[in-house]
Amino acid sequence: MPPSPSQHAADALLINGQSLRSIRHHIHQNPELCYEEHQTADFIAAALDALAIPYERGLGGTGIVATLTGSGSRDAGQAPVIGFRAELDALPLTEQNDFAHRSLVQGKKHGCGHDGHMTMLLGLAAWLSQNRDFAGTVRFIFQPAEEGGAGARRMIEDGLLEAFPMDRIFSLHNWPDLPAGTVGVMPGPIMAGGQMIEVTVRGQGGHGATPYACTDQLNIAVQILNQMHVFMARRLPPFSPAVLTITRFTGGEAMNVIPDQVHFDGTIRILDDVAANIIRTELPSLIEGIARSWGVEADVTLTDFYPVTSSNASAAELVETAARNIGLKVETSATGLRPAMTSEDFSFLLQKVPGCYFWLGQGGEHGLHHPSYDFNDDVLPTGVMLYAEIARLALDQGKIDG
Ligand SMILES: [Zn+2]
Ligand SMILES: [Zn+2]
Repeated sequence: MPPSPSQHAADALLINGQSLRSIRHHIHQNPELCYEEHQTADFIAAALDALAIPYERGLGGTGIVATLTGSGSRDAGQAPVIGFRAELDALPLTEQNDFAHRSLVQGKKHGCGHDGHMTMLLGLAAWLSQNRDFAGTVRFIFQPAEEGGAGARRMIEDGLLEAFPMDRIFSLHNWPDLPAGTVGVMPGPIMAGGQMIEVTVRGQGGHGATPYACTDQLNIAVQILNQMHVFMARRLPPFSPAVLTITRFTGGEAMNVIPDQVHFDGTIRILDDVAANIIRTELPSLIEGIARSWGVEADVTLTDFYPVTSSNASAAELVETAARNIGLKVETSATGLRPAMTSEDFSFLLQKVPGCYFWLGQGGEHGLHHPSYDFNDDVLPTGVMLYAEIARLALDQGKIDG
């Protein structure tokens, strides 16, 4: 296996005569939303054609899986298959930047850096296509609809893992909270699992002057909401972190009319199954019970959204080693790195294939999903180097268990 590229070599990679920066800018200018990433997928496919890497399109709708097998040899059945993933989709967000590569599409932008992720994965593909003397296979997965559309799950449902089996799988996300080039990695949970909760309180409305002659749905809904927070604080063990936020509360049309029904909904984030199970089994009946005690009904819908994103310990260790090997600073739980309470659909893949999801610091003053956010091009070569070193270590390891 060849050594990983130097910073200079990674920065000098060209695909179809284009630098990684210009590729990133092109993708940034042409954002597409969940499951509509047709032109983006065409662009990725054209880049793979230029690299002469075979691929299959259409998994999960717009998804692409490219496969590169090295020219090196190993004992039969011992050559590992390593997967890397990037996301195709942008956000329904109006860009507040005026640089030359700003989004050309009103109301859509790459506000999560997936433009950078695709570019780094193409950079890895370019590097490995020029350095094919490795023993094993590398897959490049470009998935649709990470932003709420569970594109990774859709690809799995479309047979991704049967058609393209993998021994190990990796994905990075740029991370504005870490300095540019610093890697954040830890075994176990790094991003939260999510549940959505919707509550409708139904009773008999009436005149605002006579609440004693009807039932006051707004007041009951407020009590339920407050008791939900007490539930989170008292029923969940403190070592199972969880967040409940009600983000919408609607009901009533006039200052003197008590409405028949009030609706509210929001999000729950958890870092382990303990909290998720307690919430799933106990919270709906608590809500229904409070409503019943006031003589009204509550309809509760609790939906699992994304699972916890949890990295395999040996894969996380491999990422940490790779980062140190190429001279990057590493933050781990030992240095105070903590999981994020946001969610990520790479979790579906990590449920099926051991692997690691990690952060590549990119600095910057704007966080992910901010209208002024932009991916930091300076970390493009860093991401390629890191991916290449992870591939090198994982391919050198060969097939391993767990
Ligand atoms: Zn995002
Ligand atoms: Zn993202």
